[in-house]
Amino acid sequence: MYCGGVLQNCMSRIDEIEKEVFDRIEQTASVDDLEQISVEYLGRKGFLTGALRDISSLPKEDRPVEGQKANALKIKIKAVIEEKTARLQQICGTDSFGIDVTLPGRKISCGSLHPITQVAKEISDIFLRLGFDIAESPEVETDYYNFEALNIPKYHPARDMQDTFYVSENIVLRTHTSPSQPRVMEKTQPPVRIISPGKVFRCDSDITHTPMFHQVEGLMVDKNISFGDLKGILTTFIHQFFDKETSLRFRPSFFPFTEPSAEVDIRCVMCKGKGCRICSKTGWLEVLGSGMVHPAVFENVGYDTDTYTGFAFGMGIERLAMLKYGIDDIRKFFENDIRFLGQF
Ligand SMILES: [Zn+2]
Repeated sequence: MYCGGVLQNCMSRIDEIEKEVFDRIEQTASVDDLEQISVEYLGRKGFLTGALRDISSLPKEDRPVEGQKANALKIKIKAVIEEKTARLQQICGTDSFGIDVTLPGRKISCGSLHPITQVAKEISDIFLRLGFDIAESPEVETDYYNFEALNIPKYHPARDMQDTFYVSENIVLRTHTSPSQPRVMEKTQPPVRIISPGKVFRCDSDITHTPMFHQVEGLMVDKNISFGDLKGILTTFIHQFFDKETSLRFRPSFFPFTEPSAEVDIRCVMCKGKGCRICSKTGWLEVLGSGMVHPAVFENVGYDTDTYTGFAFGMGIERLAMLKYGIDDIRKFFENDIRFLGQF
């Protein structure tokens, strides 16, 4: 009776173990838990090890059968655990810990607008608030709109082949965004208030020049527009773009399409006027060109020069961006180095 009891006990334990162990392995999704199951059943104090030990107390004739059964089960459990461990490691990588959900996630970096685009937008926003509209014109332009309509005749030195990319005798890559001005004036009667941001092209390349760069031109035409309006608009612009305290000066200059003409200088943003390498020890930095529109330009578009006057101005976007952010090499804008661009 005793032996029978032990036998029954021992046999039912092996059957029970067989029933539950494979269910547990099936439901496990981690290598750690599989290891734990291995210890619980096959370890020195494990269930199956215990059942195997009990076989020695069975009647002699029953021992081989039960022993074989228990050993076969042991081999099967080992194989199933090994197979599942390998499968989990393949899914989760060689790291036996699998995916660590407590680690911080990998950041997906978003792109940002190019600094030139940002500065162009900032300049445009200031003039839009002052009542200007944006006008665009072609980058591949006729000789007429790029030069002649702006009072730059055939023999003028500004048309030098060194400075201009010619597509054909009468077609050029525009050297400034000014051609938008005669194009707009031909179609519109005053009042006109426009700015034209865009790409321009010149045969030039060094640390302050690139063959392609960006400009913003502006034009304001109406009755009674004076040099005082030009000074007022440009002073407001400089104060909004740089800082309210920035001092500026208007210096006489020459452009074929304006008379009188003036360059606008601001107090050096690097040395505050003391004199440094950036301002060539002068304490001033040239930021834009301007002037009252030449009557010849108005005549070319059919405006009555007795009734209307106006002013125009133009500035390089790269130059303003360099001064605003203290950048000393214009080529950095076009190298597309993400370490540089990521700072804006
Ligand atoms: Zn300076």
